[in-house]
Amino acid sequence: MIKHEEALKIILENTKRLGKEKVFLKDALYRILAEDIVADRDNPPADNSGMDGFAVRYEDIKGASEENPVELKLVGEAKAGGEPTPIKEGEAAAIYTGGLIPEGADTVIQKELTEKKDGTVLIKKELQKGANIRRQGEDFKKGDVLIKKGKKIRPAEIGVIASVNKPTVEVYQVPRVGILTTGDEILDLGEPITSPSQIRTSNTYALQAQVLEAGGIPVILGFAKDDPKDLKEKLSYAKSCDVLLTTGGVSVGDYDLVKDFVCSELGVEIIFWKVAQKPGKPVAFGVWGEEKQKLFFGIPGNPVACMFVFHTLVRPAIKKMMGFENPYNPTITAIMEEDYKRKKSDREEFLRVSVRYDGENFYAKPFGKQGSNILTGMVNAHGFGVVPIGVNEIKKGEKIKVVLFDTDVC
Ligand code: AMP
Ligand code: MG
Repeated sequence: MIKHEEALKIILENTKRLGKEKVFLKDALYRILAEDIVADRDNPPADNSGMDGFAVRYEDIKGASEENPVELKLVGEAKAGGEPTPIKEGEAAAIYTGGLIPEGADTVIQKELTEKKDGTVLIKKELQKGANIRRQGEDFKKGDVLIKKGKKIRPAEIGVIASVNKPTVEVYQVPRVGILTTGDEILDLGEPITSPSQIRTSNTYALQAQVLEAGGIPVILGFAKDDPKDLKEKLSYAKSCDVLLTTGGVSVGDYDLVKDFVCSELGVEIIFWKVAQKPGKPVAFGVWGEEKQKLFFGIPGNPVACMFVFHTLVRPAIKKMMGFENPYNPTITAIMEEDYKRKKSDREEFLRVSVRYDGENFYAKPFGKQGSNILTGMVNAHGFGVVPIGVNEIKKGEKIKVVLFDTDVC
């Protein structure tokens, strides 16, 4: 049985970034850029004022002080978006933040250091030549690469892309992720319960939400019984997907048919089955499609195992397909708030924990019920603490690596 780290390495080695597509800028948030963003002109495009005040000639205000102010004749104004009036010796123009520097002026004096009179302005301080002027191209020059391809588009990047006049932008495509729910006992929402052996699906919708949260496009492929005919039919719906997720039916029971049928129906080549992790041991991984560019994850049915397998193995693959340079989950080091002990240490264990931050340290508190069938144990969990292979005990006060599902605790 391979270790979790090895499983993730194999998955990422077999995961290829998808192609490019053009999207409207408004739809580009959190996508990955597939083109360099290049400046279409200098920014600022011309010298302009960083203050509200007066545009002057440095020569004229030399030596000005509170006691000996310099009086300059006021000629016109320079406001943002307007055409400035040129000034000559002994003259000043009112100027506003963003206003172009008038011809003849070389310095801007802020309003607070002046006094406006009828037709003139008193300058009460000498500033350095060039003060309060934002120079043409000081932010960037035409042709500069402002954002390199491969970067995640966040609100700041959206602003920069808009500033270079691009209403559309090239990004990497996001995968369509098919979700096939299997099991004779599973009922979809709204289906009437007729026997205590029936189970209302949680995995279908938890997975759908996890795919969305990871940035993929979820496609619910339906519900298949543990029956060859039904499985074959429902698997045929998966062909248009980049990733196929199945839940249930990947253990060693007589009705665990999924692995066999994805191979025969979709040509999946299974690369590994079973990982030394808890929960989620019976996970299967394979590749399919013409160039083996599509991924298959056979996820066990236990609800917690299902969510963990998604978070730890599927999510990084979706991120890589979408073009993320760093597809890994956010991880912190936290201090254990309780002792944790286990008898067997042959698997890496993921402990559901709540996390708190006191301004200096993160603290992780493991939940009481850690069974892989206890779905409610995921509610309120901010992440999971990693108990490595060979470790039987982590004491209160010791450090533990915590992989976060929810970064809002930080
Ligand atoms: P399996 O992996 O098929 O052996 O299922 C393991 C356990 O998970 C069983 O108790 C199933 O009833 C339960 N299970 C399987 N699929 C789902 C699902 N979609 N939603 C909730 N529980 C499930
Ligand atoms: Mg089953």
